[in-house]
Amino acid sequence: MTSARPIFRFAPSPNGLLHLGHAHSALLNAAMARAVGGRLLLRIEDIDPARCRPEFETAIEEDLGWLGLAFESPVRRQSEHMGDYIAALGRLDAMGLVYASFESRADIRRAVDERPDWPLDPDGAPLFPFPRASMSEAERASRRTAGHPYALRLDMNRAVALAGPLVWREVETIGSEEIRLAADPLAWGDVVVARKDVPTSYHLAVVVDDALQGVSHVVRGADLKEATSVHRLLQVLLGLPEPLYTHHSLLLDPDGRKLSKSIGSESLRALRDNGATPEEIRRRALDVVG
Ligand code: GLU
Repeated sequence: MTSARPIFRFAPSPNGLLHLGHAHSALLNAAMARAVGGRLLLRIEDIDPARCRPEFETAIEEDLGWLGLAFESPVRRQSEHMGDYIAALGRLDAMGLVYASFESRADIRRAVDERPDWPLDPDGAPLFPFPRASMSEAERASRRTAGHPYALRLDMNRAVALAGPLVWREVETIGSEEIRLAADPLAWGDVVVARKDVPTSYHLAVVVDDALQGVSHVVRGADLKEATSVHRLLQVLLGLPEPLYTHHSLLLDPDGRKLSKSIGSESLRALRDNGATPEEIRRRALDVVG
């Protein structure tokens, strides 16, 4: 009997050009997949219509090809699979775990500004300050019917009570000892599972897709490590398999800031236009982890 080959994925968002940090993550996925004879998938995480653009997706695929990385086709594009996320939302809803939330960012900011000690989530954003009990289900239903825009949020207390204590499995790299880390989804409060403009959120789409694509190994940056608490919870609630996680260290710029589009980190494309070769980028991107 042969066991299925491990499956890895690299999952960028096409909201800008790839930088050295993405190259690091993609190359690490490729190296780990190679080490265990695994498959490597590319997933385009383009649920945000305001920020994602097809020309960035084209650039991502070109840059990865230039780096010498080959991915299986077809590439999964999240924007083409909203039906899968809607189905998962339906299951969470049937368990009584989601509710419609009509508040705007400004409402949240105002509520929190009045409470200086209000707790923050692991990303530094205030926990959602309007408990589910603050509005009746009848009022929520009538606002929905009247066409008020709403997000769907996970009732975190109820979800955690249902799922019980959770851990996830983490390895530093292939062959290193597997450890179990305690998940703490309560630290995130009532996360959004469907945004006002699209019927999913990052958290929901990532767990649904990892399961649908049969991903066995999730290798991604340490900035997403805390989010794994929410992902593990959603996997348990939805009855999805549990991948093995690796959260790799992030590349920093000379000022110690993590590379990112938002601080204008030099793109692979700019490095290439300035004469860098794929070999140089591969060495720079992989050297950092030693
Ligand atoms: N799309 C996410 C990003 O570009 C990565 C998601 C993941 O690897 O789970 O940061």
